[in-house]
Amino acid sequence: HALVVAIDGPSGSGKSSTSRGVAARLGLRYLDTGAMYRAMTWWMLRAGIDVHDAGAVAHRVDEARIESGTDPLGPTITVDGVDVAEAIRGEDVTGSVSPVSAVPEVRARLLQLQRDIIADGVRHGGIVVEGRDIGSVVVPDAPVKVYLTADANARALRRAAEEGGSDVTATEASLLARDKIDSGRAVSPLVMAEGAVHIDTTPYSLVEVVDQ
Ligand code: C5P
Repeated sequence: HALVVAIDGPSGSGKSSTSRGVAARLGLRYLDTGAMYRAMTWWMLRAGIDVHDAGAVAHRVDEARIESGTDPLGPTITVDGVDVAEAIRGEDVTGSVSPVSAVPEVRARLLQLQRDIIADGVRHGGIVVEGRDIGSVVVPDAPVKVYLTADANARALRRAAEEGGSDVTATEASLLARDKIDSGRAVSPLVMAEGAVHIDTTPYSLVEVVDQ
């Protein structure tokens, strides 16, 4: 592979800020695969599909038209032409994204889209890709793989601040619940990929992590 930087880790470990910072500094494209899983979940909820019914989710997977813009200074995400950047951060989507992401047909569909975007990023000089399975499944031959972690409390504090001051205890419970499903699922669970560099970001500022 040409220049692909794979950044994986659990919720709130600093993946998005770090990935955007690295891409901006190196003049690379940027892809947030979590936003794509969230966009798919937003579509399923709007279509009235029971997200815990894997068969129903699988059946409708091809209908959502998801498009991601890869500028690290202004990433975009649309579903059927609708800008969903804000809507996909809502509690309803956050609470339903893990079961949707565990459906193999969802992963197969988004994997295809992700590989197309990554190939395009490579043609434009390189791309930083963040998610849960980038180094292990999406781009296993990426020349740079990073696995970010942070203490659960630090992650909850950061995420709650990002969300404009939501309750830290509730945010921590929600993060841990998602981690449990994301790590325990049968397809593409969250794991540290072979050859990945592990950075525990707990004691570091964003700039320090981007430097590393
Ligand atoms: O990164 P973010 O927290 O926005 O991801 C939302 C959810 O999308 C995760 O909790 C996980 O269920 C799913 N996801 C995934 N594989 C990825 C990226 C995200 O399953 N590569």
